[in-house]
Amino acid sequence: MPIPFDNSYARLPDRFFAKIAPTPVRAPALLRVNDALAEALGIDPAELHSPEGVANLAGNGLFSGSDPIALAYAGHQFGGFSPQLGDGRAILIGEVVGPDGVRRDVQLKGSGPTPFSRRGDGRAALGPVLREYLVSESMHALGVPTTRALAAVSTGELVLRGDDLPGAVLTRVAASHLRVGTFEYFAARRDREALATLVDYAIARHEPSLAREGSLAARTLAFLDGVIGRQASLVARWMGLGFVHGVMNTDNTSISGETIDYGPCAFLDAFDPGRTFSSIDQGGRYAFHHQPRIALWNLARLAETLLPLLAEDEAEAIRLATARLDTFPDRFGAAHHAILRAKLGLGPSEGDAHEGDDELAKDLLELMAKAQVDFTLTFRRLFDAIDRPARTAVVSAMFADPRPFDAWAARWRERLARDAEPIEARKERMRLANPAFIARNHRVEQMIALATDGDLSLFERMLRVLARPCDDQPDDEELMDPPGLEQWDYRTFCGT
Ligand code: AMP
Ligand code: MG
Repeated sequence: MPIPFDNSYARLPDRFFAKIAPTPVRAPALLRVNDALAEALGIDPAELHSPEGVANLAGNGLFSGSDPIALAYAGHQFGGFSPQLGDGRAILIGEVVGPDGVRRDVQLKGSGPTPFSRRGDGRAALGPVLREYLVSESMHALGVPTTRALAAVSTGELVLRGDDLPGAVLTRVAASHLRVGTFEYFAARRDREALATLVDYAIARHEPSLAREGSLAARTLAFLDGVIGRQASLVARWMGLGFVHGVMNTDNTSISGETIDYGPCAFLDAFDPGRTFSSIDQGGRYAFHHQPRIALWNLARLAETLLPLLAEDEAEAIRLATARLDTFPDRFGAAHHAILRAKLGLGPSEGDAHEGDDELAKDLLELMAKAQVDFTLTFRRLFDAIDRPARTAVVSAMFADPRPFDAWAARWRERLARDAEPIEARKERMRLANPAFIARNHRVEQMIALATDGDLSLFERMLRVLARPCDDQPDDEELMDPPGLEQWDYRTFCGT
C-alpha cells in the first residue's frame, strides 16, 4: 500500500524551494519505526519496515508519490540575521493528509547535501537523531505541540563531528515546516508576492477558518494574531515542564506552534532559571527564564516581514502589528498561570482563581530556585502529597533549609482547603500537570553512548516509559532520578 502523498508545497512557485533528492548511503539499517504514528498518518507500518521502505527512509530510493524538495528560509540566529539558511540537511519527501484530515510534512533529516548546505555535509549523527526521536516523542506524550519522529535508520557511514560518529537519518513529521525564517527569507528579498502566497498557504494549513477573512490585510493580521497565540501557549507549556529549547532562533520558530529542532534542548534538573544548555550560547540568550521574551522577539521579526501586507501606510501597519504583539505578555501569562495552577492542584478556570494564587506559585518557584531543587521531582512529590499530608515531609526534605518551604506548604494547604472541588478531580489534574518521567539529560547521554555501541535497549526502554510520563511506573523508578552531582555540568552541542 503506497504512502498517500499529496505535495502542496512543491506546487508553490519555484523560488520557495530547491528540487533535490536524498543522497544514497552505504548500508541502511532500521533503528526504529513509530508504528502508532504511521497508522495515525494513514501509512501502513509494513511499508516502512520492508527492505524497500528502510532503503527509502535512508534516502536510497523514493517512496512512490514522493516529490523531494529542500525548503528555502532565512533566520535570526542568536540575534544576527542570515538571509539564506534553508534545509541544509533535510529534505521534505512529501505531505500526507491523515485520516484526521490534517496535512503533515514528512521530512528526512540527515539525508545529504542540498543547495542550502553551505559548508555542511548534510548529514546527522546517530546520537542527535535518537535524542530528537526520544525527546520529541516524550514532548508529544506530555501534551506539548511538537514535531514527531516517524522513523530512524542508521546509514552505515561515519560523519565527522570532531570525532567520527555513526550516521543516521531521522524521518520527522510536522504540521508544516513553515518558520518565522521562511517569511524573513522573502521579506529580505522584498518579495511581496511571495509573502502574500505564504500567508495564504500558512492559513490553509494552520487556521483554515481565516481564509474567509475578506482582504489580504485582514487575513494577514488574523494570521499574525494566531501565530502569537500559538507561541504564547507553546512557551507556557515549556515553562511548566522546565524545558529549555536551547536554540530559539527564528528559523527554529514554527508557524504551526509546534516545538521544532531538538538540538541543544534539555529539561532542567536542579531549578536554575538562568540555566542554558547550548555550548555556543555564551551570553545566556536562550536561558530558561528568557524564553517568553525571546519568543516575543521572534514574533516581532515575523510581524516586520508582514508590514507590507498589513496596510499601505507603514505607520498604520506598524500600529496594527504592535497592537497584536502587545497582547503576547497577557496571553503567555494567562497560559502560564493556568499551568502553574494545575501544577499546584488549584482549579483551572478564571472563576477558581483567588487573590494571592499567582503569588503562591511565584513564591514556590523562588524557593525552588534558591534551593536549586529538582524541578520535576519537586512538583511530582507535591502531587504525591496532595491527599497524604504526611508526605509533604518528602518535599520538605529536598530543601537544604526546609523552613521556608514548610511555611509555604502551610499556605498551600490553607489555599487548597478553600476550594470545594472534590479531591479526586483535583488530584487527576495535578497528576497530569506534574510528570514523573522526563527525558533526563544524563539518561539521554547514557542512551546515546549505548546506542553508539549498537545497544538500543535503553532507547527502547525510555521510549516506553516516557510514553506514559504521568503514570507511576515502579519498575522504572530509577529513570526519575536526577543526575548525581558529577553529571550536573551537562552541555549539549549545536550543529550536531
Ligand atoms: P540548526 O542549528 O540545526 O537549526 O541549523 C541551522 C542551519 O544550518 C540550517 O539551515 C541547517 O539546515 C543548517 N545545517 C545544520 N547542520 C548542517 C549540516 N550538517 N549540513 C548542512 N547544513 C546544516
Ligand atoms: Mg533548525
